[in-house]
Amino acid sequence: MNKTVIITGAAKGIGRAIAKDFAYSGYNVCINYNTSEEQAKELCQELAKDGCNIIIYKADVTNRQEVDKMVDYVIGTFGNIDVLINNAGISEYKLFTDITQEDMEKMVNVNILGVFNTTQSVLRKSMLPRKDGTIINISSIWGMVGASLEVAYSTTKAAIIGMSKALAKELAPSNITVNVVAPGAISTDMISSLSKEDLEVLKEEIPLGKIGNVEDVAASVKFLASYEARYITGQVISPNGGLVI
Ligand code: NAD
Repeated sequence: MNKTVIITGAAKGIGRAIAKDFAYSGYNVCINYNTSEEQAKELCQELAKDGCNIIIYKADVTNRQEVDKMVDYVIGTFGNIDVLINNAGISEYKLFTDITQEDMEKMVNVNILGVFNTTQSVLRKSMLPRKDGTIINISSIWGMVGASLEVAYSTTKAAIIGMSKALAKELAPSNITVNVVAPGAISTDMISSLSKEDLEVLKEEIPLGKIGNVEDVAASVKFLASYEARYITGQVISPNGGLVI
């Protein structure tokens, strides 16, 4: 039987590339989106046309009821959930002293509470009863080393690493692995606000000499979900071109 994966925030960017990679590898895929309905529908049509098993589901990861309904729907459609990829996230460039409490709460809600909601729901409803599963959380190099002007973002991405390591220990006896993919600079909407000049400077700082692409990240995620990665848990893999070593 095909394995089933939920990918949050998968209508565009890195999540979209992950969804394609898993769909073409024979997984049943649930593409979660919140606001990018057009892109989610278009991706679903493209993959379904190629014979992939795809569903899309609108749910705000900060809303527990919506998340629970999505998880029930995926289980009702495909039977269970084997892999959860917490990819949805937001970022913001601001001086620390300019960050409002509202900014901080929004960042924490999406980037931390969102991961908590989906993970707890999938664990309770599918992975723990079956004593099987793989959870992959998307952090960032800035959660490892911190970024100036991105203190709020770095805080939440570091929290994801801490949460994943603790959860890996708690869930190992239940045969569930938890790992982190912490990308470097990847060409998506998230870094589109950087000027051409800033991108050039960034490129020069990357030992491999280029900004990463979404497929580079999807490849790491796919590896962590594979049978070959069965003895890996609580680890951070960072596709970053050598920017952080
Ligand atoms: P993106 O903005 O293209 O994708 C993020 C997706 O998350 C969007 O589709 C967005 O609608 C969705 N999302 C946001 N809030 C949501 C919510 N409440 N509920 C459901 N979905 C929601 O950016 P991306 O670059 O593809 O980012 C994907 C992940 O990779 C993020 O977690 C990001 O922090 C991480 N990341 C990106 C980079 C980069 O350079 N692009 C680097 C390191 C880590």
